[in-house]
Amino acid sequence: MHLIPTQDEVVALLRETGALRDGHFEYPTGLHSNEYLQGPLALRHYQHQRLLSVALSRLLRRNPEIRAIVPELSIVVPATGGLPVAFGVCESIRAKQVYWSERLHDDEPMRFRQFVQPEPGEPVVIVDDILRSGSKLAELKQLLESAGAVVLGLAVVIYQPTPNTRDFGSLPLYYLAKLDASYYVDGAHCELCKRGEPLEKVWV
Ligand SMILES: [Zn+2]
Repeated sequence: MHLIPTQDEVVALLRETGALRDGHFEYPTGLHSNEYLQGPLALRHYQHQRLLSVALSRLLRRNPEIRAIVPELSIVVPATGGLPVAFGVCESIRAKQVYWSERLHDDEPMRFRQFVQPEPGEPVVIVDDILRSGSKLAELKQLLESAGAVVLGLAVVIYQPTPNTRDFGSLPLYYLAKLDASYYVDGAHCELCKRGEPLEKVWV
């Protein structure tokens, strides 16, 4: 494998580890799809975590603005699932620190751990294993910016856009592979439901 694996190599790795599955899935939003990615199934293997996060850090280094401030750079994650990638990127690119946001309950706003606060002007790259709807990434971006941090980019292992994926405008987006799954707004419009394919509900 090259220093930056190809899309096909990344997808093969995700399939080998069972992280990427074909089937018939329903998201909590009601969306149905023919493909589902559970990133931790790939990232729990250290050598895969390392390969993917080193590759992502190489993409980030291509951005001169990011490369110039790397010793001051924070890698921030919208949920703990992205931490293996975040620490891998931080180690590889030699960024300053890693921290994450979380929420105790689904109906509560995202927040950082007590006493963890971004500094005004702090340069940040938001990292996660996957960009799907982008809602957590958008909420984290807003949380960081409300504290005065400067978000320079988004970096994810997998970009799996849905019809409802947030638009991040001109913010640079880095990813190792893009997955084009089929999506149906609900069961009534789902081809897989019509064919009677067994349905699996997924949590996120
Ligand atoms: Zn369906």
